[in-house]
Amino acid sequence: MENYWNQEIECMSREDMKKLQDERLVAQVKHVYENVKYYRDLMDEKGVTPDDIRSTDDLHKLPFLTKADLRDAYPYGLLAKPLSECTEIHSTSGTTGKRVVAFYTKNDIDLWHDCCARAITAVGGTKDDVCQVCYGYGLFTGGPGLDGGSHKVGCLTLPMSSGNTERQIQFMRDMGATIICCTPSYAAYIGETLHDMGLTTDDIKLKAGIFGAEPWTEEMRRSIEKSLGIKAYDIYGLTETSGPGVSFECSEQTGMHINEDHFIPEIIDPDTGEVLPEGSVGELVFTSITKEAFPLLRYRTRDLCVLSRKKCSCGRTLIKMAKPMGRSDDMMIIRGVNVFPSQIEAVLIEQGYSPNYLIEVDRVNNNDTIDVSVEMNPDQLSDKVKDMQKQERLLAEAMKAMIGINPKVHLVTPKSITRSEGKAVRVIDRRKLHD
Ligand code: ADP
Ligand code: ZN
Repeated sequence: MENYWNQEIECMSREDMKKLQDERLVAQVKHVYENVKYYRDLMDEKGVTPDDIRSTDDLHKLPFLTKADLRDAYPYGLLAKPLSECTEIHSTSGTTGKRVVAFYTKNDIDLWHDCCARAITAVGGTKDDVCQVCYGYGLFTGGPGLDGGSHKVGCLTLPMSSGNTERQIQFMRDMGATIICCTPSYAAYIGETLHDMGLTTDDIKLKAGIFGAEPWTEEMRRSIEKSLGIKAYDIYGLTETSGPGVSFECSEQTGMHINEDHFIPEIIDPDTGEVLPEGSVGELVFTSITKEAFPLLRYRTRDLCVLSRKKCSCGRTLIKMAKPMGRSDDMMIIRGVNVFPSQIEAVLIEQGYSPNYLIEVDRVNNNDTIDVSVEMNPDQLSDKVKDMQKQERLLAEAMKAMIGINPKVHLVTPKSITRSEGKAVRVIDRRKLHD
């Protein structure tokens, strides 16, 4: 039986949800216009007033907000509430440049934790569970978000933060943790360490994991599910929209339901800004309709994704987003071809390699080069150079079939690629250093 945290909302009819969104959007636009000069100027520039926004059908009239705007307005320029009403700050991980900060009122925190509680409930979490949170705590939203959700559900919460992997496993065993929350790359590392310690999935009680904050593939999902003996679920969010819990996966494991009572999603053409129909791949844009302190309207996430209203077997009616295939800024353009790290990851795991790899892109004599270092599993080691060269060639061919260009593959010894305890760094693009 499917469990819901808030069945009324999660299974609401489309008409009722639209009505709720319409009301909330109209009020939110007024709130932002009156309190955020930066956005008011953008609206004035576009000749739009709050009176023009009567329902979600008018959403497209509003101007977009980008990460550059957030940096421009740093630190307080987009704040919509007096500081005296704000109780918390979080900040992006700075994966793609200067950090941006986001502010929360007490109510914002409460709604955010509520979204995370939905995610935990959707993977079967109840007050009888022991939930180990090994996302980083602090400015990063991963730890505090899932921690708050876990408290709401009433799980026994283990606020581990990331790192110290053997200790993570010891606590997992001693406390009988049943749910784990961390990045997928860290989950893979924990699984690897468990087996390195001579333990098996019989030695732990985990049943589910909630993994997000970075792109991961279906192949990676299966590999984590096997090594930890669990079901692995995706969760998505970004600091700008509060953190994890903007969307979450249900028992069907085919994409994440967006908490539409708080966030209205759109998919746009990243080049023209045109809104694309359901089912198209494009840039995900969110309008937060309940946030008080930092209510971003039409925020461009740069995440590339697809939305679907296909009926879900879990009974939720919330729209679903597919696994983001990466950010537009993660996409490498190599010899004119678009390549995502996730495509390489998919090939590696499919061919029986570990998800430990590093992609290095460079430009030599005006020609782009791509080198992929791939870690072998101990049983793939061979002392015959010829065997190794053959393995490298086969892997390069499989990658060429996937991405369309020929990478240089280097098999490296087990454990030689640095493991990630948070967001994994998969690409070094030296071309940017030359520019
Ligand atoms: P930063 O932008 O510095 O990494 P955040 O910690 O706020 O800061 O990260 C948010 C970003 O992380 C999202 O925009 C998205 O690119 C990525 N992300 C979050 N969850 C997922 C997920 N489940 N799948 C793929 N990417 C994700
Ligand atoms: Zn579902």
